[in-house]
Amino acid sequence: MTVAVRTLDDGAWISINDSRAVSNSGIWPLAHYDFCDCEVAYVLLESFYDVGIDHHEVVVGTIGQCIECGHQDSIDDFPVGRIVDGEFHAYEASEFQSLVEPEG
Ligand SMILES: [Zn+2]
Repeated sequence: MTVAVRTLDDGAWISINDSRAVSNSGIWPLAHYDFCDCEVAYVLLESFYDVGIDHHEVVVGTIGQCIECGHQDSIDDFPVGRIVDGEFHAYEASEFQSLVEPEG
């Protein structure tokens, strides 16, 4: 089953199968990802410039800004969810953190 992914509205949204799936207003706490000097970077995703699927995971290119220190940068291949049986399941921000920071 083919899943169609694209950016919408000048990068304000990620569209998956022609429905708006991920908006650019999410704030993602990144503790181990080296985004800025903050211990935990609370990164507001401001816009998306790319989207693709990598092994059932939906990854985006995004411009983010840390709401603590104001540092702004792009992140390539940022995982926002996965495709299960042709349907998109968005990660919660906390879920993402547990993925990049496996315990133990
Ligand atoms: Zn910061």
